[in-house]
Amino acid sequence: MKTLTKIILASIGVVFISIKWSAPSFQPETLRGARVLVTGASTGIGEQMAYHYARFGAQLVITARREKVLQQVADKCLSLGAQKALYIAGDMAIESDPDKVVEFTLEKLGGLDYLVLNHIGPSPFSMWKGDIEHTRWLMKVNFFSYVQMAWKALPSLEQSKGSLVIVSSLLGKMAGPFTAPYTATKFALNGFFGSLQHELAMKNSNVSLSICTLGLIDTDSAMEKVRGVIDVPAAPASEAALNIIKTGATRQAELYYPWNTFVLTLTKDWIPSATNYIIRNAYNYIP
Ligand code: NDP
Repeated sequence: MKTLTKIILASIGVVFISIKWSAPSFQPETLRGARVLVTGASTGIGEQMAYHYARFGAQLVITARREKVLQQVADKCLSLGAQKALYIAGDMAIESDPDKVVEFTLEKLGGLDYLVLNHIGPSPFSMWKGDIEHTRWLMKVNFFSYVQMAWKALPSLEQSKGSLVIVSSLLGKMAGPFTAPYTATKFALNGFFGSLQHELAMKNSNVSLSICTLGLIDTDSAMEKVRGVIDVPAAPASEAALNIIKTGATRQAELYYPWNTFVLTLTKDWIPSATNYIIRNAYNYIP
């Protein structure tokens, strides 16, 4: 390995370790009784977050579209130790549902300490074929509903010195093939909530805002898409969920999980042509 490469890798390692060390430590007891709303909690990372919050003794509201599944997740949350586990079905493509879900939560929990925005609408994993309607719909689900829920919940979060947690993706920082509409929604989230982060800090707001950048996670929906197309190791959903919760609870501005997503976001700017080459060759695709 060339000396320069060694120096670059060592520097990245030192930066990463010092960021980790300087972060405040997570105190699980701070989540006992915390009032939490998790979206997209019927399955995947959202479901795992619901179970972790439950083990920490939080008061939970969970939401997604499928009421029956939500009911099962809520029952399991109660058995794991949640002080409360309520659910409300909502479709984030319907304009009134984001407000409805936040109003339900505020009424049932009497306020809000954590708003964790995590849901995504299903989207194909294939070459862009010009489906504008799907892109418009996905923007509603993956982006506009986040903005709407955040705005609705901010006064309550301000009162409780609460936290807003946005679950985003490496694809919100660097583009990859086969996910053009999804990538657009995640870039939109990073842009909007990155801007809001500045504004909250400039206003000395009580609210912390965390943006979580995830790499490939082994949820059923993600694995179904990438199987046979890319061969990248996937990180466990339960661990991703716990890292997101810790990031919100310690009021960190950012999470990169797994850690190598941080390195990838750097390489795309430092060595763009090599990064593009690696991305394009990581996919099994024959034109
Ligand atoms: P899943 O596909 O497993 O879960 C998506 C959730 O959103 C489900 O609970 C689903 O429930 C809900 N949902 C879907 N459509 C709607 C809708 N119209 N209105 C309301 N809720 C809806 O996703 P993951 O757990 O894999 O991902 C969670 C988060 O992590 C997302 O923000 C994703 O971008 C991010 N992420 C995931 C990665 C991965 O590899 N898994 C990688 C990078 C980021 P229902 O069908 O009942 O509505």
